[in-house]
This record gives sequence, C-alpha cells and structure tokens, in this order.
Amino acid sequence: MNNPFLQPYHTLHDTTPFQQIRIEDYEPAVREGMRLEDEEIQQITGNPEEPTFQNTILALEHAGKALDRVTTVLFNLLSAETCDALEEIAEKLTPALSEHANNISLNEQLFARVKAVYDKRESLQLTPEERRLLEKSYDGFVRNGANLSEEDKATFRKLSMELSSLTLKFSQNHLKETNGYELVLHTEDELAGLPESAIEAAAHTAHEKGKEGCWVITLQAPSYVPFMKYSDKRELRKTLYMAYNTQCCHDNEFNNLKIVEQLVNLRMELAQLLGFKNYAEYVLKKRMAEHSENVYKLLNDLLEAYTPTARQEVEEIRALARELEGEDFELMPWDFSYYAEKLKNRKFSLDEEALRPYFELSRVKAGVFGLATRLYGITFKENKEIPVYHPDVQAYEVFDRDGSFLAVLYTDFHPREGKRSGAWMTSYKEQWIDDNGCNSRPHVSVTMNFTKATKDKPALLTFSEVNTFLHEFGHALHGMFANTRFQSMSGTNVYWDFVELPSQIMENFAIEKEFLNTFACHYQTGEPIPQELIQRIVDASNFNVAYACLRQLSFGFLDMAWYTRQSKFEGDVKAYEKEAWQRTQLLPQPKDTCMSVQFGHIMSGGYSAGYYSYKWAEVLDADAFSVFKETGIFNQDTARSFRENILSKGGTEHPMTLYKRFRGQEPTIEALLKRNGIK
Ligand SMILES: [Zn+2]
Repeated sequence: MNNPFLQPYHTLHDTTPFQQIRIEDYEPAVREGMRLEDEEIQQITGNPEEPTFQNTILALEHAGKALDRVTTVLFNLLSAETCDALEEIAEKLTPALSEHANNISLNEQLFARVKAVYDKRESLQLTPEERRLLEKSYDGFVRNGANLSEEDKATFRKLSMELSSLTLKFSQNHLKETNGYELVLHTEDELAGLPESAIEAAAHTAHEKGKEGCWVITLQAPSYVPFMKYSDKRELRKTLYMAYNTQCCHDNEFNNLKIVEQLVNLRMELAQLLGFKNYAEYVLKKRMAEHSENVYKLLNDLLEAYTPTARQEVEEIRALARELEGEDFELMPWDFSYYAEKLKNRKFSLDEEALRPYFELSRVKAGVFGLATRLYGITFKENKEIPVYHPDVQAYEVFDRDGSFLAVLYTDFHPREGKRSGAWMTSYKEQWIDDNGCNSRPHVSVTMNFTKATKDKPALLTFSEVNTFLHEFGHALHGMFANTRFQSMSGTNVYWDFVELPSQIMENFAIEKEFLNTFACHYQTGEPIPQELIQRIVDASNFNVAYACLRQLSFGFLDMAWYTRQSKFEGDVKAYEKEAWQRTQLLPQPKDTCMSVQFGHIMSGGYSAGYYSYKWAEVLDADAFSVFKETGIFNQDTARSFRENILSKGGTEHPMTLYKRFRGQEPTIEALLKRNGIK
C-alpha cells in the first residue's frame, strides 16, 4: 500500500510529508490506526501476567501512536487548510473515532488491570513522573464512571446523555435567538456616530437579507460591539442592548431558563454520583486551583482590590456623560461603552493605525525570535527541505544553545479560505522519550490571521496582533522545550488553569521599551518607535482595567454560584443570577436581562466551574513576570529557571509544585495589581 501514514516518513526530522498525502489516504489510515490500537489494547487485557506498570500503564501510554499520527494531521488541517472533501472525511470518521475512544474508556478488563496497578502503587517505587501517569490513567477511567456499581453506571450514562443533548439544545437555542434578531435602520440619521466600516457592514447585511437601501444591525459581535461603542442614538442603543441581554428568555421555543436549571442539576447529580459534594469540586480536582475555596479567595481578593478603582472609572465616565448630556443624565448599561470610548479618545488619542508602520511582520518576527535567542539561547533556521501544507507556511529548525536540534517550528501568518479565524498553537508531533532514552523532538506550529501585505505595503501589524504573536509563540515555547518521558504529559498537556501561563507571560514583553527597541522601527524610514508613543501604549493598556476586571469577576461568581450548589435548583434563574454577582455590579441592572441563559462558556462550552481560569492565569503571568522585572527582562538565569521548572516539565508534576520551584513561593495578586496601576 502506498499510504504515507502507514509507513515511515523518510523526511527530515520525520516531519509530516504533506505533499505526499492524498485526500483518500486519511480514511484507510484512520481505520488501520483504530484496528492497531484495538490490537494493542487486546494485548494488554489478554496478558496472562500480573498487571504491572510496564505491561499495563506504559503499554497503554504507547498504544495508539499510529492512529495519533494521522488524526493529528487531519484535525490540524481541518483548522488550518481545510476543504469540502476533508470536512466530509472528518464528518464520516468522527462517530467511529468517538466510539473507538469510548470502547477504550469503558473497557472493564482494561480498567481492572489499571486499578490493580493503582491499588498497589505505594509498593511500586515509581518515579514521580510514573506515579503521575498512573494516577492520570486511573482517574481518567474513574471520572468516566468505571468504579461505579452496575446500577450507578447506568445512571451515569443516562445523565451524560441528557447532558449532551441539553447542551446542544442550549447552544442551538442561543444561536437561533441571535440569528433571529435584526435591528433595521431606514435613515442615515440613525447611523449617526458609526464609523464607515460599521456602516458598510450594516449595508452589506441588509443587502444579504434582501433589505436593499436599509442598514441592518445584528446581535453578532462584529455588528453589536461597534454599534454600542459608537452609535449616538441612545434609544437605539437601549433597544439593541435589551435585545442582546434578553436572548433566550422570551416566551418562545428558544427559552433556556428551564434548560439552565436542568443543566446545573444534572451536573450536580453527576458529580455527587462520583462522590464529590458538588460539580465544582469534581472539576477542580484536575485544576491547579484544586478547591472552590481557592477560587473564591481569588475572586474575593480581586473584588476587594479593584472595586475602588472601578468605581472611580465609572465616575469619570459618568462625569463625561453629564458634561455632554446634562447634569441629570443617568448612566445606564447601554451608555457605558459609548462614553468610555469617548473618554479613551480624549485621554490617550491613541490611533492603532499610527502604530502599524513600526510593526512590519518580518521585523516583528525577528524581534520575537530574537527574544527567545536572548532569553534561552535558541536559534531559528528556515529550512525549505521541510515539507509544508501551504506555500504561505514557513518551516524552521530550532536549535538549542549547544547547537543540538530542539524542534521544528511552522509559522502560518495570514488568513485564507480554508483557515478558520483566530490564532492558535498546535503540534504535528508531540515530544516523548522512548524506553531506549531516545528523545523524540516535537513539531510545533503557530497559526494566525494577521493583516496581509498589499501591492505597495508589506504586512504591517496592529499592536494587538503583536500581542497575539507573542502569546502563541509562548505556547510554542512550552511545546518546543518539552522534555518529558510520556507524550500524554508533555508540553502543553497541563491543567487548564495553568496552560495560559507560558503564553500570557510573553505578552508582558510587548509593553517593555527595552524589547520594543530591539525591533520596532518604521518600515520606510527605519526610525525607531518614539518613546512617547510607547508610553501612550502603556498608559492606554490600563484604561478601564478595573471595570473590566469586575465584569470578569461577575462571570466567575455566577459560574461558581451555579456549580457549588449541593441541592437541586428550583426557582427564579434571573433572581439567583442577580444575587450571585450583586457585589460586582456598578451600574443599574434592568430587571428583565439574564446572562445565564446565554452563557455558553459555562453552560455548554466546557468552562463550567472554570471561568475563574482567565483571572487565575493573569495573576500567574503577572506574578511570574515580576521575577523578570526584578532581575532584568532579558535575564538568562531567570529564563533558565523558567524553562527548567515550568516550560520543560509539561504536566509531570502538580502545577503548584512546578510554580513554587520557579517562584520560591505561591503566587500572589500583588504583581497584577501593580501592573494594572491599582497599587
Ligand atoms: Zn492561549
């Protein structure tokens, strides 16, 4: 058979031979991969010897490599370079793949062997890394209900099925409500204040909806956000705000009030069935935060620290509104973005466009790579021998300080058809060390959607695109420095509330003059970015920071209020919500609005009892970066410690253990307060 997935690649560093892969290679390779993994699992369960770490846990860790090889490429390309044929294959294979995964996680003979090893773990003299792999493997089964009685297993399955159909219904309802709404504007007067780009988009939407000559505003973010920020028409802002914030609680088939109640109760039941007192404890067992108390401590500490500043920020905005509209003006939620934008312009007059000439992509790239060289001594060499999946993609060999090969890095910067929006880091191959001690190095990719070059201008990035680059590059460093024995705990395979530390810490460099001075020059004149401009970036970066923090905290409190419940919820969702986040609200709240019914993150998106992670990660990155600030932002000893204790360790130890080894103590909120100008 001539299927590249089913034979050795024979490429430099064993990189994926993209040119040789034909669309028809995926399905047979996936099916063969599943067959091989089934065989590997059967070898484990059919082994007549006593279960040991080697013949069970390690064998399970090594199983499925052939399947992994093809699915990694398939799912990466579905995001980065897709087409109808690839979508079709994925759609066809997804049910088979999830059935395959279920068959393994529900395999009772396999679990019996894993449990046998787990039960004698104290006597096995495992290394910390082996111990962690064993626990991870065991917990994976248990959290899927493997340890339950037959009767409870049936209940578990029933609850899981109800949950998955209700989460689907929840998001479908939300989508239908969002798509079902339009605000039709008939006169130019109603467009007052809107920027040209928003007006064009509204006209385009009207055209698509057959409302020629009108303008249509929708509840989708690219339409809603600019309207709330710029529209001079207060009544229209109010109409749109109320439409947005009452989605899914109207008296129609898309109402989510009852579904919220059901989702929350089902998750509680599921957690209690598995022996946890509530759903938050179930989730947090696999997080750095560990317990609800720690999450509440974070939320409360931040609330206390930021509230005075947030009140001042609101006062300043209210004062501006009264100056413009009259002394009796009452600032309402639909006024906030509008007057905040006006205040921001008055205070900073920072034009994103004016910065672009200093951020030409090739210079930014040299700056970011140069930062890694300065910190870690690693170097990047483009190698055109390495196959790529699109001509826009560049492939680099990355070498360590001593010249040894570290990783392959792909960069893919610009939007095109077939690439989804946003920015992300991913791996085409993860890192592991085999039983002979051979260290198999990773192949990492950063994918963005940056402004493209035009006929007469190179690609000039916005400041926020520079931040995005640093962020994804931080994830890439986490992947490239990976140095662990087991693939499943390598690189970015860490707890959810820890994974953004390596990425967010890099964003701190974007407002450091010392760093910007290394690369930010005008693409035409070569003149370095003016210091005064950098200062304005720094100042503007903290505009309304406390108000924004309280908003994030309100979502965190709401999330925790739903998922720390230990008894069934019955009652008024809206009232419960308002009670839960009451301390975070600085503006009057209209009675009819409701967030929970459209809060996809925590109801259907995997952030249940996890919304706090955003703030948690910010505290971590600020605290960790403060070490760089103290020792000098390019300090190589600090960088070495960050690499050794955090970036290279993946998930081989509890994140707090790793963090303390780098920091010498647990994180505090002090550095974040300082960065945000709160203290
Ligand atoms: Zn990230």
